[in-house]
Amino acid sequence: MTAHVDPTKHDTAKSVDFGAPFDSANADVIIRSSDLVDFRVFKTTLAQASPVFEDIFHHIPSALVGNVIKLDRTKDGLPVICLPEGRAVVHSLLTSIFPVPVYVPTSFRALAPVLAAAQRYQMINGLSLLRICASASDTNLITQDNALEAYCVACYHGLAEEASTAAALTVNQSLALALEDFGEDIQLLSGPSIFALWNYHERILKAAREGLLNLKATTSTSQLWQTTMAGSRHKCVAPGEDGTTPAWLIQCARAIAAGTHKISDFRLVHIKHALKSHCPFCIGISEETLAVVYNDLKEHISACMPSASAFPFVRSSLTEVPPLICRAASHL
Ligand SMILES: [Zn+2]
Repeated sequence: MTAHVDPTKHDTAKSVDFGAPFDSANADVIIRSSDLVDFRVFKTTLAQASPVFEDIFHHIPSALVGNVIKLDRTKDGLPVICLPEGRAVVHSLLTSIFPVPVYVPTSFRALAPVLAAAQRYQMINGLSLLRICASASDTNLITQDNALEAYCVACYHGLAEEASTAAALTVNQSLALALEDFGEDIQLLSGPSIFALWNYHERILKAAREGLLNLKATTSTSQLWQTTMAGSRHKCVAPGEDGTTPAWLIQCARAIAAGTHKISDFRLVHIKHALKSHCPFCIGISEETLAVVYNDLKEHISACMPSASAFPFVRSSLTEVPPLICRAASHL
């Protein structure tokens, strides 16, 4: 997201210093957040980390100056560069390029604007470092539980890599997408972003359906069942059309392919059948065997999914930088 900087909001008299570690007495430039917090840093490091800042320091008009970055008057004799991002985002961003511990927000919603800022200022190494630190953290910031929310937030901020990751996880969650699944976050999506995700699901659903309809013939699941049944004195009381594989397994696979079941519903379908039919064979299936079959189903779905890079990311118009309005950086 880009935002126009309101010059009246960047009032030197009201600004406060962030403090350590961005408080060096030798600093030669001040980075000011939109909520008037000043970070005292070094031009050299900023210029090395970002071609956008390098241009500014070399008096070359940047596409971002004037509509994203504002060059304010000086404070304590240092030039002040006003950014549209708030204190938390600027802090995290600067930790990715200065020799201090990297601070990565603990939620994807909070991390996304930091990644977007690093992308906007073309801080390639800083962006990589933030992504590496985020993926190395104990908790994954993009999970199956927040995949749709993460997709909306990633698209809104123009983050192709994160949008692709989230899109792939929305498929694991369910093959059927409903508009209401998005909740209020749908406001963050452009029409093309919604269409891209729908199209992606359609392609995966088609591949999964084709594969799952041939489940007993094409996967090791059928071998597993045959091995299990060979050692069993019982047979499922309700076999499928092949006369051996339990019908509930085939129906469940088809329901997953049709989008009416999630993969995780597999266990519930098994329990329902075993209890309702008092099926000695299905009641007797060990936890270990069920886990293998469950993983087999999951792997089969994954194998049907195109790679994450195949996701057609659409840059939202919301993320586009407004037309050039360049200002001379004469006082830098
Ligand atoms: Zn059975």
